[in-house]
Parts: sequence; structure tokens; C-alpha cells
Amino acid sequence: TQAPVTVTVTGAAGQIGYALLFRIASGQLLGPDTPVRLRLLEIPQAVKAAEGTAMELEDGAFPLLAGTDIFDDPKRAFEGANVALLVGARPRTKGMERGDLLEANGGIFKPQGEAINAGAADDVKVLVVGNPANTNALIAQSNAPDVPAERFTAMTRLDHNRAIAQLSKKLGVPVGEIRKMTIWGNHSATQYPDLFHAEVGGRNAAEAVNDEKWLADEFIPTVAKRGAAIIEARGASSAASAASAAIDHIHTWVNGTPEGDWTSMAVPSDGSYGVPEGLISSFPVTTKNGKYEIVQGLELDEFSRTRIDASVAELAEEREAVAKLGLI
Ligand code: NDP
Repeated sequence: TQAPVTVTVTGAAGQIGYALLFRIASGQLLGPDTPVRLRLLEIPQAVKAAEGTAMELEDGAFPLLAGTDIFDDPKRAFEGANVALLVGARPRTKGMERGDLLEANGGIFKPQGEAINAGAADDVKVLVVGNPANTNALIAQSNAPDVPAERFTAMTRLDHNRAIAQLSKKLGVPVGEIRKMTIWGNHSATQYPDLFHAEVGGRNAAEAVNDEKWLADEFIPTVAKRGAAIIEARGASSAASAASAAIDHIHTWVNGTPEGDWTSMAVPSDGSYGVPEGLISSFPVTTKNGKYEIVQGLELDEFSRTRIDASVAELAEEREAVAKLGLI
């Protein structure tokens, strides 16, 4: 068997962490032949809870789990990290302004970017889950000048999966028949789930739906507001589905997209589709041999263009705000 891959998870004692760590330990992140060594980062007051989770991981007797270490110092937590899952973040609380939220997260993601820069493995792949994920990823990336920018990504895979599930229900087709779903823009209420390039059993999805009202007034808002609907129903925010999407994101990045399909990842823009360079925005991407490429050449009509532009404008505003705060 291979040498263990080091996976660093932040916010390890949280809800998403609880669901995520067991799936990593069971081999679902990197595959059934790859042992993993976990390095967990928590804030000092949550280290004890993380130790409890580590005890449960031990009790899982996972053959692929080569060990679990817990830290409250990012420098140590990211040492040798091949995969870094940045889950812990400062959530928006009542009455908090966006500037305060960005500033609080800057205090988390700036030192984490510096720690990744200083000590992660040369092949490190970073996924930011903690919100506001795209801009948190931008802060970490900007503070890791020696790491290639494209290694910093943010998660829109949950939105992608939600969009596939909603379309599957609408058309009464299995999720496995849906290909080429795309989430564009920010992981926020402005995100744009795109059915015009998606396919159902080889047929264009928007044509198969043939219901513009459903697409504009139900599909898009249902996907974009699904997080709030889960909180309403469950009394707590989505955790297992977010963990599942994080597993999917890294698994696809490492193992590749199937022929004739793509996935959605928020990645540093190279200017594709008019998205300003450097913004970490969601695109359709294909992956192969541990690298991703933005799908090129898709035609965007007025309906799509307007929505993508609105979400990208929000990302540009967030970038401006964190630049003013000296975080990037
Ligand atoms: P969760 O584990 O439920 O969520 C963690 C983060 O993921 C939040 O920012 C949340 O954003 C985000 N998220 C992204 N997508 C989703 C989604 N689809 N559904 C739900 N959440 C999503 O939070 P907990 O409060 O349970 O745990 C957070 C842990 O992080 C705590 O243990 C805390 O101590 C730790 N922490 C660690 C830090 C560190 O390691 N330096 C720094 C800060 C916190 P949103 O709130 O917007 O839903």
C-alpha cells in the first residue's frame, strides 16, 4: 500500500467536521487504497470536543486511518498537509454587518494561509467550506504567495448536488442520468445554477424541463435557498450533506471527472467568461490527474449572463472589502 496522505481539517469539532471525518477515515475521500493521517485544527476552547471525536474515530478501527493529531496552532496543523479542508469559520450572527463578518474571518483565514504557505506539502490542495467560502479562500490564497494560486478552491459542490437533485425530482429521472450541471459565481444567494448547458439522458436539460417559469421562479431560488430550508426543517444547518459535498469535491479533483461530464468548483478566475482575474468564482470544470481546467466555449444567453454578472459583482465587492481591511 501507499504512504499515508496527510489531511488537515479545521473546525474539526463542529457539525460538518463530525460527519466529514468518518467518511475520510473510511477511505471515501481518496479511495480504498490510500491510508490517511488526520491533523485536526480547533480553537483552544473546542480542542476537548475534538479529542472526543478523535476517540470515536479510534473506535471505528478504520484500517485506512494511520493516526489522528489535534492542534490549536495552524502552523503545526498544516505541516505536511497534502489536502487541507478549511471548515471552521466565523458564522454571521444576528446584527452582524458584512464588514464585521469579513474581518472576523480574515482573522482566521489569513494565518491559515500563512501556515499553509510555510508548512504544507508541495502538492497541497485546499478546499474552503467555511463561509463566506469564496472570499475566505481568497484571503487564504493571498497569504500563501509560494503556493500556486490554483490550489485554493471553495465549495459549490453542495449547490451543484442540490441542483442535480431538484432537476432529478422535477423530471422523474435518476440523478445518474444528469450531466454537465453548473453553478456559477458565489456560494451565496446570488449563485446561478445553470440548466442551459446541463444534460438529461443526453438531452438538453432546459429543453427537457420546457418550463421557464419553473426554472426562474422555483428551481433557481430553491437551490439558492436550500440551506435556509434545511435550517427551518432540522433546526440546525446542513452538515452531513455539506460534508458529503466536500468529499465529492476533493474526490473529483484527485480522481477526475468522467468523460462527457464536468463538475462545479469555485476556483481563481483566469478571466474566463469575463470573470475578473483572481476572484474565486464557481465555474464548470473538468479534472484529470489531480488538475482542473475551466470548461471553455460555452455560450451564455442574456438570462444566464445577467445572473452570472450579479453574482460576480458580489464577489468583486467582497474582494474590495477585504482589500480595504488589509487582508489580501
Ligand atoms: P459547521 O460545522 O456546521 O459549519 C462550519 C462552516 O461551514 C460554517 O462557516 C458554515 O457556514 C459552513 N458551511 C458551508 N456550506 C455549508 C452548508 N451547506 N451547510 C452548512 N454549513 C455550511 O459549524 P459548527 O459551528 O458546528 O462548527 C464550526 C467549528 O469550527 C467549531 O468547532 C469551531 O470551534 C471551529 N472553528 C475553528 C476555527 C479554527 O480551526 N481556527 C476557527 C473558527 C471556528 P454558515 O455558518 O454560513 O452555514
